Parts: sequence; structure tokens; C-alpha cells
Amino acid sequence: MATTSENCIFCRIIQRQMPAKIIHEDETTLAFEDIHPQAPVHFLVVPRKHLASLTEVGADDEALVGHLFAVSARLARDRGLDSSGYRTVVNNGERAGQTVFHLHVHVMGGRVFHWPPG
Ligand code: AMP
Ligand code: ZN
Repeated sequence: MATTSENCIFCRIIQRQMPAKIIHEDETTLAFEDIHPQAPVHFLVVPRKHLASLTEVGADDEALVGHLFAVSARLARDRGLDSSGYRTVVNNGERAGQTVFHLHVHVMGGRVFHWPPG
């Protein structure tokens, strides 16, 4: 079954129907701690609008996607990650490791990251 805003866990977090450690919200985005952190700092920045992945981003969403990354950078700075570096990741599609089909930017920091990722 395709994920829609009705059965999407991130939409449920946005609508406060599911608990999360929310660290930021504004008119178009929300950020919360990842429930299964892969680094000492690991949070997700999501649009309030349900977009399954970058594949669904249309011309009308370009400012929103830019804002998602600007918020990611601002929150990374607030967490003291600017000098140590941090990684932003967007997985698109199952084969790329996407498990939640509501667009999200992973922001991870507090450890060394290697390249290429697995
Ligand atoms: P991805 O695999 O790129 O789709 O990333 C989905 C991320 O969402 C994973 O890192 C999960 O740990 C995280 N996640 C899943 N459910 C929740 C939840 N209820 N609250 C916070 N993070 C979640
Ligand atoms: Zn959603």
C-alpha cells in the first residue's frame, strides 16, 4: 500500500498524534530527534506537507526544499556541529535505504563519517 498522509508516521508526528522529541517547528517544517540514532546527534527535518520523497518535489516546492536545508544547517549550528562537521542525508526509494516515505533530511554529527556510505 502506498504511503499517504493518512497512514504516514511523520504526518502523525506533525499532527501531534504520535509523540516525538520535537526540537524545532515553523510554518512549513518540523524537526525531531531520530528514534534510532546513528550518531551522537541525529535528528530529522521534515516538511509539514506530505511529499513521499524528493521524487515528488514539484516546481512549487523548491523554496520549501531550500528551507528544509537552511533549517537543517541552522539546527546543526545550534547543536555545535559547525566546527566538527556533520552529514545531511536524504534517502530516496527503498534501494537507497528509505524506510519512511515522507521526505526528511537526516542531520547527523558528533562522530567521524566515512565515504562512500554503504
Ligand atoms: P529513512 O530510512 O531514510 O527513511 O529514515 C527514516 C528514519 O526515521 C530512521 O532513521 C528511523 O530511525 C526514523 N524513525 C522512524 N520512526 C520514527 C519515529 N516515530 N520517531 C522518530 N524517528 C523515527
Ligand atoms: Zn507524511
